[in-house]
This record gives sequence, structure tokens and C-alpha cells, in this order.
Amino acid sequence: MRVLLTSEQLSAGIARLAAEVAADVAPGPLTVVGVLTGSIVLVSDLIRRLEGPVRLSMVWASSYRDGATTPGRLDLRLDLLPDLGGHDVLLVDDIFDTGRTLEALMAELRGRDAARVRSLVLLRKAGRAEVAIEPDFVGFDIPDVFVVGYGLDHDGAWRHLPHVAALEPADIHDKRPPHVDPAPIDPDAGPRP
Ligand code: 5GP
Ligand code: MG
Repeated sequence: MRVLLTSEQLSAGIARLAAEVAADVAPGPLTVVGVLTGSIVLVSDLIRRLEGPVRLSMVWASSYRDGATTPGRLDLRLDLLPDLGGHDVLLVDDIFDTGRTLEALMAELRGRDAARVRSLVLLRKAGRAEVAIEPDFVGFDIPDVFVVGYGLDHDGAWRHLPHVAALEPADIHDKRPPHVDPAPIDPDAGPRP
């Protein structure tokens, strides 16, 4: 696996995104709507950098792009959403690829009488967009490679990586977590977990 974004770069990117959001949204309450499952790490880091009242909700989206089965089908589940009437909403997703997921979710959220709906993605892939809309806030532009880590998976694996990596063919059948040497024990650090 080739690391594209280290955890330090991600952390600086989230701080920048939070500052951009703060400069753009009204000072009042903000409803953050995260897209399961890929955005969970991003959402948890981002909301801790937002000041002012934040309400959090999650929706679920999945696209089946494996052409053999159900080409282009997008499944959305929005039943956990609170009432958005009159609220400032920030939709947060992991990656903008074709843009179809964000386009569909923005239409759904806009149909719920929110005062304003903005969108934020951590990553945007070059040369892939199939829709006219663009996300309002973008963390990083990346090349057209399949990425995992920091919430993004391949077949359920790799979401837990603290960095974003390009998945290479040799990684695809190897879902073991990367080997990490245990930290040395510090006798003054208190009880062990
Ligand atoms: P879009 O609807 O923009 O084509 O696709 C967005 C969704 O596709 C993302 O939320 C993500 O779930 C998935 N996706 C697109 N590109 C990648 C990628 O490189 N890696 C992973 N793990 N998921 C991706
Ligand atoms: Mg997704």
C-alpha cells in the first residue's frame, strides 16, 4: 500500500476544513449529516474542531458500481434524520468520485426545507465527476486511484487505518492489519489497560 495522506496531513486538512466551514456558515446551530459508513472518522474529527452548537445525524448510502449486478444503483437510508426545517445543514461524505451519491443526498436534504445545505468531502478524485454539482468544501484532491483508510474500506477492510493509502492489487487479498510494534511500557504511566 502506498500512503497518499499521512495522519498529520489529514489532521491539518481537517483543521483547514473546519476553519472554512466556520467562516462560511451562520453563527447559529449547524446540523452535521454524516454519510455512513465511510465518513465516520472524518465526522468525528471534524465536529470536534467546530465551534458553536452542532447537532449530529447520520444517513446511509451505498452504490453498487459492480456493473455485472446492478449498475449505477444507489441505496439511501435517511430514516434517522431529524427535522431539518429552517436549519443550516452540512452534509459530510468521505469521497467525491462520480458525484452521484452527493448529488442524490443533496437533493434529498434540500427537499426537507433546510435553510441552507452545504456539502463537504474529505477527498475528490480527479477526472471522475459525472454530475454538474461540486462539493462546497474539499479536503484534498487526489488522483484516480482506489483509496482506503481513515474510514474508507475495500470490501469491509482497512477503515481503521489512520492514514489514506492507495490500494494496490497485492493488497486486495490481504486483509490482515499492518504489523505494528507494541509501544514500550513506561513504568510511570499508571496502570496498564
Ligand atoms: P460517487 O457516488 O461519488 O461515485 O461515489 C461516492 C462513494 O463511492 C463514496 O462515498 C465511497 O463510498 C465510494 N468510493 C468511491 N471511490 C472510492 C475509493 O477510491 N475508495 C473507497 N474505499 N470508496 C470509494
Ligand atoms: Mg460512501
